[in-house]
Amino acid sequence: MKKVVKFGGSSLADAKQFEKVGKIIRADEDRKYVIPSAPGKRNSKDTKVTDMLYSCYALAQAGKDFTSMLGKIKQRYEEIIKGLKLDLSLDKEFEVIHSNFEKKIGDNYAASRGEYLNGIIMANYLGYEFVDPAESICFTEDGNFDADKTDELLSKRLAKTENAVIPGFYGAMPDGKIKTFSRGGSDITGSIVAKAIKADVYENWTDVSGFLVADPRIIDNPEVIQTITYKELRELSYMGATVLHEDAIFPVRKAGIPINIRNTNAPEDDGTWIVESTCHKPKYTITGIAGKKGFCSINIEKAMMNSEIGFGRRVLEVFEKNDISFEHVPSGIDTFTVFVHQSEFESKEQKVLAGIHKLAEPDSIDLEADLALIAVVGRGMKANRGTAARIFAALAHNNINIKMIDQGSSELNIIIGVKNADFDAAIKAIYDIFVTANL
Ligand code: ASP
Repeated sequence: MKKVVKFGGSSLADAKQFEKVGKIIRADEDRKYVIPSAPGKRNSKDTKVTDMLYSCYALAQAGKDFTSMLGKIKQRYEEIIKGLKLDLSLDKEFEVIHSNFEKKIGDNYAASRGEYLNGIIMANYLGYEFVDPAESICFTEDGNFDADKTDELLSKRLAKTENAVIPGFYGAMPDGKIKTFSRGGSDITGSIVAKAIKADVYENWTDVSGFLVADPRIIDNPEVIQTITYKELRELSYMGATVLHEDAIFPVRKAGIPINIRNTNAPEDDGTWIVESTCHKPKYTITGIAGKKGFCSINIEKAMMNSEIGFGRRVLEVFEKNDISFEHVPSGIDTFTVFVHQSEFESKEQKVLAGIHKLAEPDSIDLEADLALIAVVGRGMKANRGTAARIFAALAHNNINIKMIDQGSSELNIIIGVKNADFDAAIKAIYDIFVTANL
């Protein structure tokens, strides 16, 4: 068995966390390839090293003195080295970083040093080989990730080593310039490495015991999802539930490698399995609930709309021309509603309304703001009668008015629109009926 293990910033925030990580890796010799993030927050008031690097580089770029800020970053690493009692000095590395900052080498390079330095420490601590992703994680000249070239180079490179530490978050462009993924991108590196070495499992270690059924800021101690499919995960992540970078799914999904989300602070917990498909019956009818606030709806009415071919296209064209993406389009016989992100829509509101009037000649347009969308997701809904009925009964009993209902044809999710003000109560009501009462 070959496992790729990725550890997030909070798992590597200080020497104590490093020790936990070391124990986890040594407990299973299949954990052969390790992807570290940069040191994260040690407490809620702390700053992530990546953020310190961005701020430090901003000083350098503005021609201001960045020496003391860089010194603070160095101190974070030195505390880890000292705590682990390693015979390692990063003096030379910091000299190079200092001179590159002076040369204004770029903020991608600056941010990437967080994982780079943590990778050096991790490799030294474990006695694993250090493999710099700048050699084999490739971006194109215009900064897009080059999946094919990376897979070829990385699998060749890693075939030469049984155990390696590969820092997360970055790679390089053809001219050697360092390029990072978007924030949280070490998850993507882990997935790319898992694909390249044809791993059996990609373990993603973080500070929660898996993907939760609902947001813990709304539900006290929500249950952990045991197994979730990639499709379900995509639905929930899209609606704001995050444990994993969204782009981390694609490399392993293509290769059929499962992801196991685990907790560094509770390694005995099984965590969540993210898989392509599964026969495992979900514990509850629903797998998860997620949602987002801040939508508005544009409700368009026109008599005899049902027989007017091209009406929908004309309305949506207006949104396209104004560069606004739409979320949902529920329609009736003489009504057509478009849900959009309020923040994207507000500044273009009057232009859009004028455009619809011009292109589609409706009888009236009515706007409603401050709406929230909630996705109730679950592969278990497909074969089950009455899921929608239970959701609506739960909301009705809690005096929550439903603004919109949309069930995808996959029967994997039901999307409900409610007022922003009803958002938390709606999620609680749905959680209670499916999970607490297990109906
Ligand atoms: N350190 C980077 C960030 O804070 C990447 C990561 O942790 O995945 O976004």
